[in-house]
Amino acid sequence: MSRKKTKRAYKYRFYPTDEQKKKLAQTFGCCRFVYNWGLSTRKTSYFQHGQSLYYNDLAGMLPALKEQFPWLKDVSSVPLQQALRHLDRAFVNFFEHRADYPTFKKKRHDQSASYASNAFTWDGQALTLAKMDAPLDIRFHRPLPKGVKPSSVTVTRDSANRYFVSILVGEDIQPLPLSPKVIGLDLGITSMVALSTGESIGNPRYFATDEKKLAKAQRKLARKKKGSKNRTKARLKVAKIQAKIADRRRDYQHKLNTRIVYENQVVCVESLAVKNMVQNHCLAKAISDVGWGEFTRQLDYKTKWYGRTLVKIDRWYPSSKTCHACKHVLDSLSLDIREWVCPACSMVHDRDTNAALNILAAGLAVTACGGSVRPVRVRARRATPVEAGNALP
Ligand SMILES: [Zn+2]
Repeated sequence: MSRKKTKRAYKYRFYPTDEQKKKLAQTFGCCRFVYNWGLSTRKTSYFQHGQSLYYNDLAGMLPALKEQFPWLKDVSSVPLQQALRHLDRAFVNFFEHRADYPTFKKKRHDQSASYASNAFTWDGQALTLAKMDAPLDIRFHRPLPKGVKPSSVTVTRDSANRYFVSILVGEDIQPLPLSPKVIGLDLGITSMVALSTGESIGNPRYFATDEKKLAKAQRKLARKKKGSKNRTKARLKVAKIQAKIADRRRDYQHKLNTRIVYENQVVCVESLAVKNMVQNHCLAKAISDVGWGEFTRQLDYKTKWYGRTLVKIDRWYPSSKTCHACKHVLDSLSLDIREWVCPACSMVHDRDTNAALNILAAGLAVTACGGSVRPVRVRARRATPVEAGNALP
């Protein structure tokens, strides 16, 4: 029996020739232009005429737009259509409360262009984009699986001027052999992840260690005259440090959640309303530093790939202040208390391990009962603001 193919993106760095750089810069510029034009056209249409426009409407206006701005014809038309598809996606994400209202793309931010399968060739070794003569010089740090047919390709240039290509393929991913292990994770602030096994994996806080370097570069940038060459250079320096921090964080997270998924059959986490919590000023930096949202997203698709189960527990489950042994619930437990003694059963708890054990128990209750019997969390009252992280000591 063949499994449905899983869509998987492989991202590689590549080094464009001067000519390719020029062509890409042109393409990025045109995509940005079309995206921004689409956004402003949609806005005008809706706010002035009460009429919603979608991909098909805007794509239908592209030929006329090209007559008005003939330089749009110098680049492949596929990335321009894809830019409008991305705009559609941005609106859907907004309507479904996953993102803010779409904003205009700016020149100094990351640039990207997407190519559908009719706008590139892949011969199993080399990738050539439409309107380009030579294939991209891609560094395949790991090979694309043999025999795959890429369905789309996205080229990006980040603010540190590095070029990447993300190749989307359909792939047969073999589920891992069953594991007898189950685990609960408490995604904390002071430690990256506390496991129900008692192991605590320290938050690398890359941002904190590189913070000085970054702050220095940012101060330098602030002193440079607007529009000057030196300002551009200083901005690039800041972007490079930020890119390095982001790379290291991503790498660390991937290794960690891959290990967790490999070892355990069932993984239980709290489904955190990360976005809401990030809006809390005091916690904002610590949380965006740790990157919980991205971590959980990766757990989500990796458990699906490998035939594991991810259980997300209600975000208001008071996992920290419930004793995992006797289920006694404390009235409050402030964030600076790392260890506490249960007044009911006298057990000593490490704050994070106890929370991870509760998350595991709640998750297993949900899976065992198929959700038909009330899960453990129903026993508990709603968390106080302290539990939800609204009060820092
Ligand atoms: Zn107890």
